[in-house]
Amino acid sequence: MRKHTCALAATAVALGLATAVPAAAVPSTVTPAQAPRAGYTASSTTDTSDAFFQAVLRSVAEKRAANPNSAAAVTVVYDASRAPTFSAQIARSTQIWNSAVSNVQLRSGSSSSADFSYREGNDSRGSYASTDGHGSGYVFLDYRQNQQYDSTRVTAHETGHVLGLPDHYTGPCSELMSGGGPGTSCTNSIPNAAERNRVNQLWANGLAAAMDKALEKSGR
Ligand SMILES: [Zn+2]
Repeated sequence: MRKHTCALAATAVALGLATAVPAAAVPSTVTPAQAPRAGYTASSTTDTSDAFFQAVLRSVAEKRAANPNSAAAVTVVYDASRAPTFSAQIARSTQIWNSAVSNVQLRSGSSSSADFSYREGNDSRGSYASTDGHGSGYVFLDYRQNQQYDSTRVTAHETGHVLGLPDHYTGPCSELMSGGGPGTSCTNSIPNAAERNRVNQLWANGLAAAMDKALEKSGR
């Protein structure tokens, strides 16, 4: 598991993904026992949109390797059953991303077919995207934070991590990945042109690399 993750992380470095994280996203404190996570605000993150993206990418790649005749468009399946309070925001986020990018599409599905899931609850660190330590990614939506900040923006932002985007808290409100940086008054939930291009690029090149790994593993 660990070895496989590292191989994919190296690919991410080659793509310039890891180096694009701004200094502002580096936390002053890190909780070592916690799985890596990328939060909505700078105070809650330990940056790691990377580990999360790699988990989703690997899940999709392994499914495609097992079913090589699947359609050309990449579909990332999510399970929203554990975040019922946010079903409208999740549906809206899906709609936003599916019309914003073309190389990857999101689709709601059952827990058994999902590449990642949405969960909800109370966490003093707010909302974040993380992995469960076993290679599965999930987006956690915090009740309180989703009342303070625009809930659709929070959901679309965390979903941006699923699609490979890192945090950029110093960015303007027009940037989705600036998250809580521009403050609670920011309600933009649409990724800007640069963010769209980045996602399209990641799913064109990143998936190809992940596919090579998955096919290697399955001995094809
Ligand atoms: Zn974030």
